[in-house]
Amino acid sequence: MVVVVSEKIHWADVYAAKVDPNIGHRVATGITPSGPIHIGNMREVVTGDLVYKAMRDRGLDVELIYIADDFDPLRKVYPFLPEDYAQYIGRPLCDIPCPCGECENYAEHYLAPFLAALDEMDVHPRVIRASREYRSGSYTEEISRVIEKREEIKEILERVSHRALPDSWSPFYPICEQCRRISNAEILAFDPDAHKVAYRCECGQIGEADYAKGEGKLVWRVDWPMRWAHFKVTVEPFGKDHAAAGGSYDTGKEIAETIFGYEAPFPVMYEWISLKGKGAMASSTGVAVTINSMLEIVAPDVLRYLIARTKPGKAIDFDPGMGLLSLIDEFDRVAQAGSSREYELSSITGIKPGIPFRHMVTVVQIARDDQGVLEILERSGYEIGTREAVLAAAHRARVWIERYAPEIVKFEVQEALPPAALELGEHERYALGALASRYMALDVWSAEHLHNAVYEMGKETNADPKTLFTAVYISILGQKRGPRLGWFLEALGREFVVARLMEAVNAGTE
Ligand SMILES: [Zn+2]
Ligand SMILES: [Zn+2]
Repeated sequence: MVVVVSEKIHWADVYAAKVDPNIGHRVATGITPSGPIHIGNMREVVTGDLVYKAMRDRGLDVELIYIADDFDPLRKVYPFLPEDYAQYIGRPLCDIPCPCGECENYAEHYLAPFLAALDEMDVHPRVIRASREYRSGSYTEEISRVIEKREEIKEILERVSHRALPDSWSPFYPICEQCRRISNAEILAFDPDAHKVAYRCECGQIGEADYAKGEGKLVWRVDWPMRWAHFKVTVEPFGKDHAAAGGSYDTGKEIAETIFGYEAPFPVMYEWISLKGKGAMASSTGVAVTINSMLEIVAPDVLRYLIARTKPGKAIDFDPGMGLLSLIDEFDRVAQAGSSREYELSSITGIKPGIPFRHMVTVVQIARDDQGVLEILERSGYEIGTREAVLAAAHRARVWIERYAPEIVKFEVQEALPPAALELGEHERYALGALASRYMALDVWSAEHLHNAVYEMGKETNADPKTLFTAVYISILGQKRGPRLGWFLEALGREFVVARLMEAVNAGTE
């Protein structure tokens, strides 16, 4: 029988193969910085980056851009905001003071850590701020066109999205000069030649807005296709909410083609990332793990891998507890295997696979401080890269234990023989004594030998290996379970382990 193993093609390469290789490309991503940017949002930008890199690897001419929608209005007082932010509802995010008082504005407060996280994750898009595009007048021509063709646009929106719009509908929202809100103002007159609209705001103000100066913005369903044409976007990832029939991609596609004579970008629809047991992530509801808090515990290449290993159309149920440990283990295996495409697209130049995270979780619980961590790793014969990299990894493990680790992985090495060890039976102590002698005589103090010795000594002394494992944990931790024994004992060192086991052996005879 001939077994044919088909080479699995990575999804990003599948997308890259679908676009026209003969034209220049631009992959656009975008997020509204209205709150802490979480790993659900990260999927947008990392998905874009993966497709961008796959296109680049095919030799295509391609650029990655990230458009920060900092000109969007604040929609409500989110749970993480002080109550007095009610006064800013409706104002562009870039015009609202930042919550900490240190940043240029509200949007920048959330953008800065996000952009730093992207940099750490080896995502380097050209960053475009919507506010600056509007206020510098770079959209003026397109806005005039939209205003001239507003009836046609209205017809498209009503037909494709199956919803009726009021007669007074306008594709452009002015910013009221009185209340400074992007309001649902009534448009009294359009003057494309002077790039102005006259409006009557809900606050009563009657005024004029000059869109060449950014005194207003297009509604989302028009803004999106406008920017496709403006930036010549050819590929764009977006969440499934935009992908629904009659949704903003469908209407955008027709607006782009009919109004701007521009073909809509190739769509890359992605599903949500939900937080295990808590539902889809959204900073507006507080169900979210921010990218920055994730980067405190996970190496950036592992976070890339989380997105890279799953097809965009498949939901990700993210579990920052044990699930994260499995993800890291899986990544370590993929990294060791070397040349898979998933690994290639996830790995970051300059970051080498270091000490396995699971092992680090054990080491930091044994060591009292950073120096202790370094000593243990040296004793275990680990090739320690740079001191900084090791200590950063140790820090990530400590933060994970503190915030996300289930109780089952937590332990404490007891400074003296735990009282529970006095309960060990005669046969268990006999087996422990044999194990201690074996450990004393071992040529190589390595995890594998230490682990195997438990089976060998169990056999020799007619003790159930499981009982012997438990006896060792009880002698050291005062509990029946603990981290993988070989690694654990290797990290503790011969002197301590042998002395402690002998103490347990002798405790019963005194
Ligand atoms: Zn701030
Ligand atoms: Zn107003």
